[in-house]
Amino acid sequence: MALIVQKYGGTSVGSIERIQAVADRVIGYLNAGHRVAVVVSAMSGETNKLVALGRSTSARPSSREMDVLQATGEQVTVALLAMVLADRGYPARSYLAHQVAIHTDSSFGRARIVGIDTERLRADLDAGVVPVVAGFQGVDAEGNVTTLGRGGSDTTGVALAAALRADECEICTDVDGVYTADPRIVEDARRLPRITFEEMLELASLGSKVLHPRSVEFAGKYQVPLRVLSSFEDGPGTLITMENDAMEQPVVSGIAHSKDEAKITMSGVPDVPGVASRILGPVSRAAIEVDMIVQNTGADGTTDFTFTVKRDDYERALELLRPVQAELGARELAGDNRIVKVSVVGVGMRSHAGVASRMFDALAAENINILMISTSEIKISVVVTEKYLELAVRAIHDAFELGKAAAGERV
Ligand code: ASP
Ligand code: MG
Repeated sequence: MALIVQKYGGTSVGSIERIQAVADRVIGYLNAGHRVAVVVSAMSGETNKLVALGRSTSARPSSREMDVLQATGEQVTVALLAMVLADRGYPARSYLAHQVAIHTDSSFGRARIVGIDTERLRADLDAGVVPVVAGFQGVDAEGNVTTLGRGGSDTTGVALAAALRADECEICTDVDGVYTADPRIVEDARRLPRITFEEMLELASLGSKVLHPRSVEFAGKYQVPLRVLSSFEDGPGTLITMENDAMEQPVVSGIAHSKDEAKITMSGVPDVPGVASRILGPVSRAAIEVDMIVQNTGADGTTDFTFTVKRDDYERALELLRPVQAELGARELAGDNRIVKVSVVGVGMRSHAGVASRMFDALAAENINILMISTSEIKISVVVTEKYLELAVRAIHDAFELGKAAAGERV
């Protein structure tokens, strides 16, 4: 008799047939004696359409109105799922975020959840009614509609599970778990039965699309047991665990990649104090996120400064830096937006040496040039030219033998 929050993504509610299948799955849990609260995304493709519609009105549509517009996708699916459940004889009630209420700050388009009222949902659960809550949306202190950023209904699911102190949060999606690498690229990629929060957080923020990074952060913070599994077929999925015993962990758990990258280099900059801040200052003031940063010192008292940004921000960042180049008298400003980032992640790295060289050897063997490197305690990322993406991911996957079940792996 558990309390379970189930979140269904866009493909899982992409048609009436699929919504029927979701209802079947929910009913299966109810019949087994569990209590279920459901969070849904918009039907697949709907949010994209709404965004395109909004952008067609103006080059810079108001972010407040964009949120009002985008939030409508989820209004459709909560109503449909509640109708289907009721039609089967299982009382259900749909909720928009302001009805719950799911309180957020006022950063339109990337709002953060600050609190969730649970009274109405609890009353429903106690009365045997299934609450069906709109993902992705929130309400700020002034009553404005907000959204949590693309993919944000994962975060609604986890936050709701935390607020309700649910026994588990299931993220029901179109894949049956978290894989060692993108199975579309690596044929023998393997579903991971378990992964730690730390690793999942790295994978999510390094480009693996399975979970919204904020949702993993939330699950870690509030210790919500989280599982990623398929809404179409039965299976254990991937459990995201709090356990962090590096001794039992494989050195590398998975590989993430991101195509959403671009790099900018300013070369021949005088090697004097304050240069990094003069280059990155304007970029960060424009709210452009900088990821990797590398500085090489030349023999002639100048330095080359390279950093990466999201591909969407590339042109704007270059524009901002042209005047800085002139001011600093830098020799050249150049960039490349055909680069990708490939990362290996594993908590086992803490207790094992040689992970980096194994990764670099694998790339060298394929003649892939590494453009940038960055490391943290449990991850190593490299930037390579876009055309090498698939080859690089496959070579690294092979090098760490991720396709074969690691010896003694717990299922
Ligand atoms: N419907 C929203 C999106 O497409 C939220 C989500 O799917 O999680 O980004
Ligand atoms: Mg989605």
